[in-house]
Amino acid sequence: MTTPDVLIIGGGLHGLSAALHLARGGATVSLLERRFVGRHASGASAAGVRTLGRNPLELPLSMGAMQMWHSISDLVGDDCGFVAQGQLRVYETDTQADRELARVAALRAAGHENEVMIDQQTLRGLVPGINDKFIGACYAPTDGAADPHRTLVAFRAAAQQAGVQLHEGSGVSALSRDGSRWTIDSEAGRFSAASVINASGAWGARVASLVGEEIPMAAKASMMMVTERIEAMIRPVVSIVGRSLSFKQSSQGTLVLGGGIQGRYDLDREETTLDFRALAAGASAACELMPAVRGLRINRCWSGLEGKTPDLLPVIGPSTVAAGLYHVFGFSGHGFQLVPAAGAAVAEMVATGRPPATLSPFSAARFTTRDVAA
Ligand SMILES: Cc1cc2nc3c(=O)[nH]c(=O)nc-3n(C[C@H](O)[C@H](O)[C@H](O)COP(=O)(O)OP(=O)(O)OC[C@H]3O[C@@H](n4cnc5c(N)ncnc54)[C@H](O)[C@@H]3O)c2cc1C
Repeated sequence: MTTPDVLIIGGGLHGLSAALHLARGGATVSLLERRFVGRHASGASAAGVRTLGRNPLELPLSMGAMQMWHSISDLVGDDCGFVAQGQLRVYETDTQADRELARVAALRAAGHENEVMIDQQTLRGLVPGINDKFIGACYAPTDGAADPHRTLVAFRAAAQQAGVQLHEGSGVSALSRDGSRWTIDSEAGRFSAASVINASGAWGARVASLVGEEIPMAAKASMMMVTERIEAMIRPVVSIVGRSLSFKQSSQGTLVLGGGIQGRYDLDREETTLDFRALAAGASAACELMPAVRGLRINRCWSGLEGKTPDLLPVIGPSTVAAGLYHVFGFSGHGFQLVPAAGAAVAEMVATGRPPATLSPFSAARFTTRDVAA
């Protein structure tokens, strides 16, 4: 039997990041991934590195993550393709402008200065060719985007160099507590560990239910489209208030379009299916934003499976029913940016037994205790 200090279930970016930070802190770590590293959300991600428009409850963790992205090579020995090209959230009506102004004012009152309001002229300077109907934007100049595959390669290599034992093709089927240790049964055999981290993405609630913990979670299948290459036309990543669109241009010239347009999913088969009507709606929103892109060919589409919680915030914290089990899943479509800081916070929680303050909004107890109070 293999006996690491910590066993991590799930080889997405959150499992890898927790593994890396724990191993650097001196723990022995085994990571079990049912398929292969990056098979699900982390390998399908648009990799937007965004504080813009985030739920304020996520901002303390997200701001820490943003600092880490700006020196990500120090953590993983590669820049992960991260470019701080800025992110914009454009709006088209006075009512939306008023709401955004109030939102940004509330952020500033809470001490967050990551977003500024810009007028139409400044917006046009940043995004030449944008449709005239967009009258202004919120702008986060130090946000950006990374390359998801490069990020996976870098986190995987750094974790392995730090000593993490990685087992792919090794789904976990059972967990049982035996005294002060966990016994974990998997396709890679039986393990015994003092602590277990459930980083199993869209299957996080199912893994929690292996120990009788019921955490409400649905799933989502966000879709992406990539066009043919064109000349450089836009630098920042652009989203539209009230719409499912994110629009950016890669360094190769392709336009990468996403923003949460949904396909269909089957958790049992671990599959997603593209919904071409929804993709068409996303493509027309892109043409509305930047009329010059009408007629471009779309070369490739894909979708990825991710857990979606009732309040769209992740579950990061100790299990509410089992000592020595910690959850980190359910990022609801925006977990890529949080990866470096969430891994550090999870490692601190496992080492000290207490979640740091940045994790307090994400406790699994927010669902279970609300049910009890009701
Ligand atoms: C299309 C798309 C676009 C996105 N764009 C952005 C973006 O622009 N910005 C942003 O911040 N976020 C974005 N996200 C979200 C972000 O990619 C995810 O939040 C993040 O990758 C989640 O990582 P994870 O490690 O929690 O999950 P995953 O990467 O899904 O990893 C979970 C792993 O657990 C494994 N597993 C499950 N059950 C078991 C088991 N029983 N035993 C062993 N292994 C198991 C799975 O095989 C899987 O590999 C996007 C997501 C998608 C799908």
